Amino acid sequence: MKRRVFSGSRPTGRQHLGNYLGAIQNYVNLQDEYACIYCIVDVHALTSLEDTGSLQKNIYDMMLDWLAAGLDPRKSILFVQSRVPEVMELHTLLSMVTPLSWLLRVPTFKEKVKLQPHNVNYGLVGYPVLMTADIVLYKGEVVPVGEDQLPHLELAREIARRFNNLFGQTFPEPEAKLTSFPLVLGLDGKEKMSKQLGNDIELALSPQETIERVMTAVTDPARRYRDDPGHPEICNIYQLQRYFNPLQSDSIAEQCRSANIGCVDCKTLLAEEINSTLGPFRERRAVLATKPQYVAEVLADGAERARVIARETLREVKQKMGLL
Ligand code: SF4
Repeated sequence: MKRRVFSGSRPTGRQHLGNYLGAIQNYVNLQDEYACIYCIVDVHALTSLEDTGSLQKNIYDMMLDWLAAGLDPRKSILFVQSRVPEVMELHTLLSMVTPLSWLLRVPTFKEKVKLQPHNVNYGLVGYPVLMTADIVLYKGEVVPVGEDQLPHLELAREIARRFNNLFGQTFPEPEAKLTSFPLVLGLDGKEKMSKQLGNDIELALSPQETIERVMTAVTDPARRYRDDPGHPEICNIYQLQRYFNPLQSDSIAEQCRSANIGCVDCKTLLAEEINSTLGPFRERRAVLATKPQYVAEVLADGAERARVIARETLREVKQKMGLL
């Protein structure tokens, strides 16, 4: 029997290169080897209560990108978190076995408190418990994550372990599967690529829009003039060249160090390679966009399949906790 992969992503709308290289590609590749469950975690998005009016559109756009990128509803379960309400019940039950001190020490909680001091809600501190419920409700064994998510997964493992110790073996302790392209820098060259920070390149841009976005990228600050030798190892454009232009990347690095290529030419090359790699994705996306009903059907079917597993797990949990 195939091992079960679970992964959840917030509904961030149209996906960008960071999402593609850091997660989506990995999701697609795992589909043949594992029984995959991929979830858009809309409830998690409510912790910040920002722009809930666009939630449904963001879910639709994100799923459109996932499907166009190769996620296959015949191979994987694709659904939206809140359409399987059993996760809320499991979240409450797991909160009873999770010491508050474990949650208060999570670094991202402290960061969130700084980011939204006006709205330090319970959901923020309980986020790792809900995340654990997301995974263990489906008895997820493997979780594809970036390095920045490792502390959260470790906490999920601790919560699962604690439940198992208290009530008997129930949940597998989910293992991390690190992506091979863990951190994609944004166009600012400083922060992780993120829609919120506005430093991203969306997958569904037109070829011309892609060129324009790439041209705005910050590169090696040492290259103030065309003749200045560069340091490709610190340049985010070079990082992307290595992925999108692997055959030429060594030569580009060499030319950058010897100032034989300028940043504009380097960026043009990169934009062309991005456009050529994403061409088939963009074609599939355009076709799928003409059938919005199909996306709705995929999500409804995914939720139904996910609920079958969820109900069974919840019944087992309630029995073990003495609720049934
Ligand atoms: Fe970066 Fe390319 Fe400019 Fe070198 S030539 S600094 S790799 S953009």
